[in-house]
Amino acid sequence: MSLLDVRGLTAGYGAVPVVRDVGLSVERGELVALLGANGAGKTTTLLAISGLVGLQAGEITLDGRPVTALTPARRARAGIQHVPEDRSLFPSLTVDETIRLACRTRRAPGWVLDLFPALERLGGRRVAALSGGEQQMLALARALCRDPSLLVVDEMSLGLAPLVVNAFFPVLRRVAAERGCGVLIVEQHVHVALRWVDRVHVMAGGTVAASGTVEEMRPRIDELAGAYLGPS
Ligand code: ATP
Repeated sequence: MSLLDVRGLTAGYGAVPVVRDVGLSVERGELVALLGANGAGKTTTLLAISGLVGLQAGEITLDGRPVTALTPARRARAGIQHVPEDRSLFPSLTVDETIRLACRTRRAPGWVLDLFPALERLGGRRVAALSGGEQQMLALARALCRDPSLLVVDEMSLGLAPLVVNAFFPVLRRVAAERGCGVLIVEQHVHVALRWVDRVHVMAGGTVAASGTVEEMRPRIDELAGAYLGPS
């Protein structure tokens, strides 16, 4: 039984679905990337998994339990944490206040501080004064404070320097290995994704066009890039 199992997911913003019959899975301790050109439906798929976009059809299970009927808040309590593309931080709060709101304790758990030691140094700093990389770190830390079984991260590397992005992936690998957390990310940089993740699902035109392990996909990447991923 997979940690996350998505079958026949059809969802959108109005009567016409944006994603159709999407099937994907994430195992415990696994890093999975959702790839695809702009508009392929990656963000919509993540939002549907978290409950932020309504399903028109399909079934989503977490640890074998259906979550399709649950509100976003109840899905979060069930173990799904979503880091959205815009990170959804409050600019006027400090780092410590952001963590306190999420954790309902004064400090982040030790294992989160261990992953992100800079959190302590930046504790009194307002979100608005953080760099893009620091904001992404805070968004990830806030989600991890709730000890999710599934972490969903949309466009983690958006607007970040490659050096910064390359620092986050090992952290996600540790989260997967040490916490047994499943991680589902949308990543625009195909080659970055292939370096760090275990498996990829390639989306095109609102559905999953190809899926496989990195070993299976690497030899096909030029073909897939030409067919589905658009200019990179
Ligand atoms: P990108 O990399 O550009 O974010 P994506 O693969 O994440 O692309 P989605 O954001 O899921 O794709 O968008 C898929 C389709 O849904 C696009 O055609 C987009 O215009 C449409 N769409 C996205 N958000 C909305 C919305 N709030 N209301 C209506 N249509 C939307």
